[in-house]
Amino acid sequence: MAFKRIVVAGGGTLGSQIAYQTAYSGFQVTIYDINAAAIAAAKRRIATWDQAYAQEMNATPAVIHDTNDRLAFATDLETAVEDADLVIEAVPEVVAIKNDFYAALAKVAPARTIFATNSSTMVPSQFAAITGRPAQFMALHFANHVWENNMAEAMGHQGTSPEVYQQVVAFARQIGMVVIQLHKEQPAYILNTILIPFVDAALVLWVHGVADPQTIDRAWMVATGAPMGPFGILDEIGLRTAYNIMLAASTAPGKGTLVDVAHKIKSEMIDQNKLGQESNQGFYSY
Ligand code: NAD
Repeated sequence: MAFKRIVVAGGGTLGSQIAYQTAYSGFQVTIYDINAAAIAAAKRRIATWDQAYAQEMNATPAVIHDTNDRLAFATDLETAVEDADLVIEAVPEVVAIKNDFYAALAKVAPARTIFATNSSTMVPSQFAAITGRPAQFMALHFANHVWENNMAEAMGHQGTSPEVYQQVVAFARQIGMVVIQLHKEQPAYILNTILIPFVDAALVLWVHGVADPQTIDRAWMVATGAPMGPFGILDEIGLRTAYNIMLAASTAPGKGTLVDVAHKIKSEMIDQNKLGQESNQGFYSY
């Protein structure tokens, strides 16, 4: 069965991009978020994707108009998912929030609806039981700036149905993704298994006062020719999500120093509204 109606839960940094790319690719998409303020913020993000697609994808005004026509917004979960073939979950990277979301979703989604999580670091087996449909649940993990960095990692858990897995892979291709298929569950997939220790190492250098973020980035960029260093990448990810990941990682054995990193991100960045590219100010100004 090919999907027609898609719901993206959470219209934040990634959810708004996934929704936009999906609507741009011709699907009907509903963004579900918790309240009117969150929907207003999602609409502001969507307006910035209008500009990005015009500039970077040469999308014409007609294409942008049609994309927006295929996007709907909802704050009532039951109504949002009543006709959904696929729900892509992009709610905050906090276990309790995801658990509550899946418990609520399981109660109201049609039995046929497939769920996919965009979690960066959690594995689908963590939530499989609470979805009430473990065979119809897996991870589909997108990268920031989804239209440009068009990679999606498809990762099932042991109980994911192979047919469901292939349907989700086919959908990801339909929306223009290069799909990376993982053979087994891996916390943080392939991308973040490599990226997170890299970013952590840079943050620890910053917390230890070895050099400022721009200098640390410069060392990496000049030496490797990379277009961005770890702090530029953090600005793109968004400091809220980086903080959530850091806080969760800081409780893992041997990761005590990351508590200091998390505190510094909170007090020196998030509390000063330096959220990264989203607030036009992070480690860099935009
Ligand atoms: P974000 O903080 O920008 O957005 C989260 C959104 O979820 C907000 O709009 C918020 O209002 C909404 N929300 C909060 N509680 C909710 C609930 N109960 N139901 C529905 N919506 C709710 O976060 P983000 O960076 O977009 O991250 C979302 C998910 O995507 C996380 O799991 C994250 O790890 C993952 N992800 C993020 C990136 C990235 O670069 N930011 C990349 C890949 C994956």
